[in-house]
Parts: sequence; structure tokens; C-alpha cells
Amino acid sequence: VLDVVMELSQPLVAEKPIRLITALDPALPAIFADEDRLQQILYNLVGNAVKFTKEGVITVTARSLPDESASGFLEITVADTGIGIPRDRHEAIFDSFTQADGSISREYGGTGLGLAVTKNLVELHGGKIRVESEAGAGTRMIFTIPTAARMTRIGESPLPGPTKARRVPAQTYQAALQADPAVPSSAPAQPKPGDADPGLKP
Ligand code: ADP
Repeated sequence: VLDVVMELSQPLVAEKPIRLITALDPALPAIFADEDRLQQILYNLVGNAVKFTKEGVITVTARSLPDESASGFLEITVADTGIGIPRDRHEAIFDSFTQADGSISREYGGTGLGLAVTKNLVELHGGKIRVESEAGAGTRMIFTIPTAARMTRIGESPLPGPTKARRVPAQTYQAALQADPAVPSSAPAQPKPGDADPGLKP
């Protein structure tokens, strides 16, 4: 999934002095996620990272959470060296139609919907998303997705194979997305190769 996202994101950085880097440990556990939705989450976060970074590096990393209480989750981080987000806006940016400040839409465009959709998708998987950032000091978007092993442990049916995540039925997402009035039900599901943008952000 990450390879696809990185490939899709290459055109976004083509005109900027930015390097896209991923470092994933091949020993990471399989996760319980819908591939298309996970791709959409990553594409939104990498897309934002590119959009708000003039130069530098964007990295995507993942690790198993060591903490006992949180065991069974994979933590994925998209980090950039961009404009950053002031602390007092860390919560608001996940709301629909909200941007870090009034100058953002003038300078960068966007609708303020991407992170609201992304948060929704992460939570539908049973994960959480948070931000670590300061104005001018880059941004780290960090989200968790349950591992396949965790879902098996808490009573979900076992996965077909060690590296293949089970697909969650699409209706589950549709129902939940439609329950959120801020998310248009016609929102495109995922980026297709060749699309410049998945369509969430004009
Ligand atoms: P949009 O990008 O369409 O404005 P999002 O919901 O994706 O909407 O993001 C909301 C706001 O959060 C953005 O307008 C921007 O102010 C801030 N933001 C999101 N990601 C980043 C990032 N990587 N660096 C700096 N600011 C960000």
C-alpha cells in the first residue's frame, strides 16, 4: 500500500526540492485494515505534507507500539519539514472545513476537509490520529491501526494469511461516512494511478 502511495505522490514533489523517504521494517506485523482506505489515509497525509513543505524531507515510518496497554497497534508517522501548525490549532485542524488559520486557504488553497475524512477513516479502523507540530518546525502526523493479531485476539475471525489484511466490508464505511454530514457521500473512494489528486481537495 505504501509503495503505491509513494508512487502516486512522486508527481506532487516533482517540482519541489523535497525527498520522499520510507523506512519500513519488513518484520512489521500484518495490520487489520481496508487497503483502499489505508491508501487514502496515507495519500491525504503525504499530500498535505507535500503541500505545506517548501523544501526538505517527508518520511513515512512505522513501528509496533511497545507499550503494553497499547500493544496490538501499528503506529505510522508521516513527518515533514514544512510550515508546521501552531499548538492551539492542533485539535481544530481535524474538524471539517477548518484550516490552521485564515491565510492558509489564500496561500495554499484546500477545503479543510482532508484531515476530517482522514480522522474518520482512522477511527473506523479502531485507530487514533494525533499531530505533533509547532509553527515553523515541521509536522508529524501519527496514527495507529490495529494489528491483525489484535483483532484475532479480541474475537474477530482470523486472517487468511500472515501478510494479508482482511478487508472490512465497504458498507461499514459507507454507513459511517454518511452518518457524518460533513462528508459528502459521493466522495471518491481512493486515488487511481494517473489521477493527480484523489478528489478530496480541489
Ligand atoms: P486542507 O489541506 O484542504 O486545507 P486538511 O483538513 O487536509 O485541509 O488540513 C487542515 C489544515 O491543517 C490545513 O489547512 C493546514 O492549515 C493544516 N495542515 C494539515 N497538514 C499540515 C502539514 N503537514 N503541515 C502544516 N499544516 C498542515
